[in-house]
Amino acid sequence: MGCLFCNIVEKKIPADVVHDDEHTLAFRDIRPVAPTHVLVIPKKHVAAIHDLEPADAETIGRVLVAARRVADQLGLADAGYRLVVNDGEAAGQTVHHIHVHLLGGRALTWPPG
Ligand code: 5GP
Ligand code: ZN
Repeated sequence: MGCLFCNIVEKKIPADVVHDDEHTLAFRDIRPVAPTHVLVIPKKHVAAIHDLEPADAETIGRVLVAARRVADQLGLADAGYRLVVNDGEAAGQTVHHIHVHLLGGRALTWPPG
């Protein structure tokens, strides 16, 4: 079966896609924890932040720029929103393909749980 998010990139598994470009894909989280909950991913497989290499700087930068675009597109920019990346077990990472959670549409408390 391989990587779940690579399968979404390859359209082997359906997703509610909100942004798709050469390097990045953004789709709605299947179990949203906020009114807007989108996952923004690089199309290139990198398992986690702790696997990033200097050569991946452009890849991860493109993910953040895409997240900003999606936030604008979904009308979150004025109110504000949060980007979250879970890395490893203690942070609750369950899918091992880097993804930035874009959360918005409600007040978000700090610190996160
Ligand atoms: P993590 O816990 O690794 O930071 O986040 C993984 C996220 O992927 C979770 O919020 C989970 O709900 C979401 N997720 C897991 N499987 C699927 C899926 O098949 N489709 C979509 N759209 N989201 C998924
Ligand atoms: Zn992958």
